[in-house]
Amino acid sequence: AEKLEDGALKVIRRLTDRGFEAYMVGGCVRDKWLGRKVKDYDIATSARPEQVQSIFERTIPTGLQHGTVTVLIDRVPYEVTTFRKEGDYEGFRRPSEVEYIDNLHEDLQRRDFTMNAMALDQDGRLIDPFGGQEDLRLKRLRCVGQAEERFREDALRMLRCLRFAAEYGLEPETATWSALLLLKPLLGHIAMERVQAELLKMLAGANPNLAVDLLCSSGVLQHTKKKLSLASIADGKPWPNLDRLPDELHRLAFLYIRIGATAEQADADMRHLACSKQQTEKVRLMVTAHERLRNEAGNNKVMDDMSMDQRKRLWLLAAIRYGRGTLRNVHKLYSQEEHLSPSQRVWVAEGERWLDEMPVSEVSELAVTGQELMRLFAPAKPGPWLGRLLAALLEETALGELSNETEALLKAAEAHYEQIREIE
Ligand code: ATP
Ligand code: MG
Repeated sequence: AEKLEDGALKVIRRLTDRGFEAYMVGGCVRDKWLGRKVKDYDIATSARPEQVQSIFERTIPTGLQHGTVTVLIDRVPYEVTTFRKEGDYEGFRRPSEVEYIDNLHEDLQRRDFTMNAMALDQDGRLIDPFGGQEDLRLKRLRCVGQAEERFREDALRMLRCLRFAAEYGLEPETATWSALLLLKPLLGHIAMERVQAELLKMLAGANPNLAVDLLCSSGVLQHTKKKLSLASIADGKPWPNLDRLPDELHRLAFLYIRIGATAEQADADMRHLACSKQQTEKVRLMVTAHERLRNEAGNNKVMDDMSMDQRKRLWLLAAIRYGRGTLRNVHKLYSQEEHLSPSQRVWVAEGERWLDEMPVSEVSELAVTGQELMRLFAPAKPGPWLGRLLAALLEETALGELSNETEALLKAAEAHYEQIREIE
């Protein structure tokens, strides 16, 4: 961490030695002031991008159109951005054109919140023209300038507002909050990818519960470009501690389960949000497995008298169907629920151990391969029977009714073969 800061100071000193102004700005100043770990140091300077490129040996033109040059110091990248103001805002998003300026003050003025509009010079002097320090002390989040104007310029700032409020435990100041409530319909202009990024960061952050509260109380999710099922989350009884769940995807799955969304709805939302395939699949599997276990346990009318064996069977079958990892995730979700059915309580108590003890959960773990079965039943042609046979062996092995040894598996395969062929 020290080293990271030293590199930033090197960049700043070199620039000032050449007669330019240079400061640490934005998130790093805020996080330093709060005593938080700084993720990356951003530097603002009066030097133009070409000048920055000529002053440092190793640079990458990462964002020349925004005036940003990445400078490498001991292989660590630092973003150096020329003081600028932004041209006209288009489509309620930040502009593509920028205008370079000569003073820091105006550069700070274009920034979103007072706490993000502070700078530090090479001697550690804080430059804070909008009272960011005071706002942080009062745990207050405030727009630089007129909140309405700032949110109209760039509607994404409203989501950033909620994210920062949650992450740092801040209360949006009155004018900022009322501007947000007034202008939230402008979020319909923001690309869903941007909404996704903010949403996942909020859920991944230090205080996901506060993030959810803010999403509910502001009602912003009702105004996204594409309609989300998640928009139906509403205030009400408090949520369990979401930060006990390992990551943003578990937390998101938990929200879907809580609002009673189906796996299809969760899946559709995540597509709308342009989430990755892996992210979507992970959440969809958690919601599906949860739904399915609930239905199966619920459809069993004598639910309360279901035997331990039946419960274990349902659990292990779900692990085969949705993957052991998914069931571990579902277990984590149950562990945070306060109202559990009798079956769910058993799954919380025993589910993890059952998964650990499960000898196999996938066909690939079986001590027999499809090829071996083909050989055993030659000259039978491959067909759906093969998959069915493997599935039957997997189920018996997973449930502990059959040992995962080649000989035993081949014998069981022979016993099942006729019956399975008959189905075809
Ligand atoms: P973090 O990276 O921890 O989310 P950050 O403050 O570094 O927080 P970035 O998105 O990395 O946030 O942006 C860096 C700085 O650029 C911000 O601190 C802020 O000063 C400015 N900034 C970023 N996005 C906007 C925006 N949409 N409107 C105005 N200023 C912005
Ligand atoms: Mg940052």
